[in-house]
Amino acid sequence: MSNRILASRKRIALVAHDNMKDEIIEWAIYNKAALAKHRLYATGTTGSLLETALDQSVSKFLSGPLGGDQQIGASIAEGKLDILIFFWDPMEAQPHDPDIKALLRVAATWNIPTACNRATADFLLTSPLMYSDYEAILSDYSSYVNRKLGPHK
Ligand code: PGA
Repeated sequence: MSNRILASRKRIALVAHDNMKDEIIEWAIYNKAALAKHRLYATGTTGSLLETALDQSVSKFLSGPLGGDQQIGASIAEGKLDILIFFWDPMEAQPHDPDIKALLRVAATWNIPTACNRATADFLLTSPLMYSDYEAILSDYSSYVNRKLGPHK
């Protein structure tokens, strides 16, 4: 499995739970100029709010609880997204908790830069690596992919 090149114009996925939406919007407006240099993707409701706040087009997936988190996870696995900004709510259980866990797991599997709070998102967005090609080194999963299974498995 080859490493992945994250191009200088990053494909950034943004997700915020309802109690975190004000925060992601405030953060995004503060970072409007930086975000304008990249392509934005988001779960449905977060995406609509961001599009209005930033006056920048955002490619929208389904709303998170309706499968949007899973769509973002699938896009990460397919190499179609480079960065995940995910303001999940640490104080409230979500109906789609398994999807949240799955998204974070896929992001870790594919070594996607992931920010789960505002401070990390600030550090991420101010990194010079946001504006140059970056080679994300992937774990070697070949022994897993090529594992020997018994005749009936
Ligand atoms: P939403 O989804 O942006 O559609 O509200 C976010 C989520 O809860 O995963």
